[in-house]
Amino acid sequence: MHGLFALAVLFSAQQSPAASLGFEPGTDSMLADWMQVATYLNGLAQRSPFVRVDTLGRTTEGRPFLLLTITSPANQARLAAIKRGQQLLADPRLLTDALLAELRTTQPAVILISNNIHSTEVASSQMGMTLAYRLATEPALTRLLDSLVVLIIPSMNPDGLDTVVSWYRRYKGTRYEGGPLPWLYHKYVGHDNNRDWFMVTQVETRLVTRMLYTEWFPEVVYDVHQMGQNGVRLFVPPFQDPVNPNLDPALVAGINLVGTQMAAALYDAGLTGVAHQLSYDLWWHGGFRSTPTRHNMIGILSEAASARLASPLTLARESVRQPPRGVNYPGPWPGGTWRLGDIVRYELVASEALVRLVARERGEFLDRFVALGRRQIEAGRAGHPFAYVLPPPPSQRDPEAWAGLANVLLAGGVEVWRAAEPFEAGGGGHTYAAGSLVVPMAQPFRAHAKDLLEIQHYTPVNDRPPYDVAGWTLPLTMGVRAEAVDAPFAANLVKVDSVVPVPGRIEGTGEMFVLRNQTNAESRAVAALLAAGQPVTIAGDSLIVRGPRARHILAEHAALHGFMVTAVPVASVQGRTRRQMPRIALYQPWTGNIDEGWTRWVFEQYGITYTTVHDGDLRQGRLRQRFDVIVLPDESARGLLHGVDSTRIPLQYAGGMGEAGANAVSDFVRGGGTLVCLDGSSGFAISRLNLPVVNILAGEASGPQVSRFYAPGSIFGVALGGGRGSSVTVGVPDSLQIYFENSAAFTVSGTARALATYPAEPLRSGYARLQERLEGKAALVEVPVGSGRVILFGFRPQFRGQTHGTFKLLFNAVLLAAP
Ligand SMILES: [Zn+2]
Repeated sequence: MHGLFALAVLFSAQQSPAASLGFEPGTDSMLADWMQVATYLNGLAQRSPFVRVDTLGRTTEGRPFLLLTITSPANQARLAAIKRGQQLLADPRLLTDALLAELRTTQPAVILISNNIHSTEVASSQMGMTLAYRLATEPALTRLLDSLVVLIIPSMNPDGLDTVVSWYRRYKGTRYEGGPLPWLYHKYVGHDNNRDWFMVTQVETRLVTRMLYTEWFPEVVYDVHQMGQNGVRLFVPPFQDPVNPNLDPALVAGINLVGTQMAAALYDAGLTGVAHQLSYDLWWHGGFRSTPTRHNMIGILSEAASARLASPLTLARESVRQPPRGVNYPGPWPGGTWRLGDIVRYELVASEALVRLVARERGEFLDRFVALGRRQIEAGRAGHPFAYVLPPPPSQRDPEAWAGLANVLLAGGVEVWRAAEPFEAGGGGHTYAAGSLVVPMAQPFRAHAKDLLEIQHYTPVNDRPPYDVAGWTLPLTMGVRAEAVDAPFAANLVKVDSVVPVPGRIEGTGEMFVLRNQTNAESRAVAALLAAGQPVTIAGDSLIVRGPRARHILAEHAALHGFMVTAVPVASVQGRTRRQMPRIALYQPWTGNIDEGWTRWVFEQYGITYTTVHDGDLRQGRLRQRFDVIVLPDESARGLLHGVDSTRIPLQYAGGMGEAGANAVSDFVRGGGTLVCLDGSSGFAISRLNLPVVNILAGEASGPQVSRFYAPGSIFGVALGGGRGSSVTVGVPDSLQIYFENSAAFTVSGTARALATYPAEPLRSGYARLQERLEGKAALVEVPVGSGRVILFGFRPQFRGQTHGTFKLLFNAVLLAAP
């Protein structure tokens, strides 16, 4: 009887994904949704002593966000001690020689495998179930789990998995099977959920970041991706040049080691088409595999060729774009049918190769992690810089942005200190005020802080563009003063957990209130005032409101967000008055436009209410009756007009706004509406409305050809001298930094007015070829048309939710510039 019972337990512990789902993960045209994935993994955790499931929190749309912890039962019983050990290895300042010696014998290595961050890259969401099952049941793997903790995130975006699976199921068996989605697979940021890893704006990013840098500190992070359909079958590191200056040589070599180990395992298994050194480089900070590298963790990704979601496709060898056989590609793929199951198999082999490598070389991975942290601390002690100092308001124009930058660093595990008293630093008797925030570089995650605070100088290798953007310096994008101090100094510092602005207040007496509109929080307050029906008068470079209700709203916002308001006796004021919230339409094309999502997210953070409009709404016309402002996100004129072709997407989502929609938008402007065009959509307005504006970069910014202007994601300075008197620039400083990503630069004539202009040599961080072409050109333009107007942004004012320094221009454009 006893034997039978044991057998029954063993049998249920070994219940496979197929037994739970009714199909093997990776089967053609079958996809498990999040409920099925979660149900299987919860069941496995209940039955297997090797597997634990934790819910880290809720996703943007409220689904449980899961983390699997897979290790031996003995390790499961001491997870708290193992986490304490990881914390010591990650911060060697606390690590004595005796402790290190002990950890070298007792501490398992920790790796994290993260699946399905990009929801259409769907295979890994299915693969994770098989990987967990095999780790829990396959003797060759389970016996490695004394030396190893395997953390698995089964989906980095469960909302998106369900979005993709339901789309796939709905159109399976039709001509649209496996085709593109008409909307984003993350509520706000779509594919940019893997561009958010230093800024941590989104819920999922925050959950994982907290787990990584305050709880688990894994030595290796492996992010599982897919790419297009027609190239090599799998990319694994080594990555491509250039290498960011903040990456230690041993870290780069460790990345190479993991990648080549994976490739060897894949070729050992008889698989082909595995390549190194494709377009993915080691320059950019912000992806899920790159932010951990600034935390001394080996961060890698793999990129498998995609099928048509779960449907197979067949490729003749000559139609596959692959490099010739060589050291980075020793086994070309012969072509044939490529299936979901192939991707699952490649990803499984790569994952298990990582498990075997780290279990076998546990001591080396631990030692390397500790040594990397120690070298960061030593480099920080040596100075250049010794620390960054963020002086407090009023030295900062926007207290909320100042606190926000500090909180971004804190979320990334960086130590930030506050000066309890004034101190001298930087030579020449320079004194910083009490309340200054200090980021010392002698800390283990120095590379993360330094890379976010310093200027990027990208140098192309072999004339290639960077994989993502070239520059991201946060003090520039956020409009925050942060000063590098090269030499050591002494100060009375107190460590902080979070930073909130010193509460602002209403100064002076009277029932009329003057806002200088210098902070983003004042735009939030203006939105609240207008939503409450409180009139706002634009008077020169200030905003004026009156009365007890306005006082109440302002006092609350000023206290929370740190801006000052001046009260004066009521007097008559010259200016234009807004009496309510403008009726704002935000256009959402059926192309899954990420900039639209970020715009929506930023509006919501600042209480700016909007109505989402689609092609059908525009085509119906009479837009002026419904709206005061229409915002077009960054999208080409062609994309706006024609959208996605009806051979690729169902008819109701095909064809863009078309002629009818474009004419309705033109009528809206002529009839008194305000059209706000973000970057690419400027081209649409220029041509449809015959604006006296030329984008001198039109058609040029798309490639890295030597003779052409090229800036693939850089920060430029602009001057606003010419823009005074426009509602768009109320409260904005005379010069600021803008984010430019293959953007536009305008010449204007006639009634068009340049509100912001490029100076000589405008590049501030990143890369630009032929930047002299920008000198004197306009970055921001306002054009009256009929009784309305068009505002053209030749840059990205709310880029990825990062550019707090230019949010204000967008807020003014929608809140103040409307009729
Ligand atoms: Zn991806």
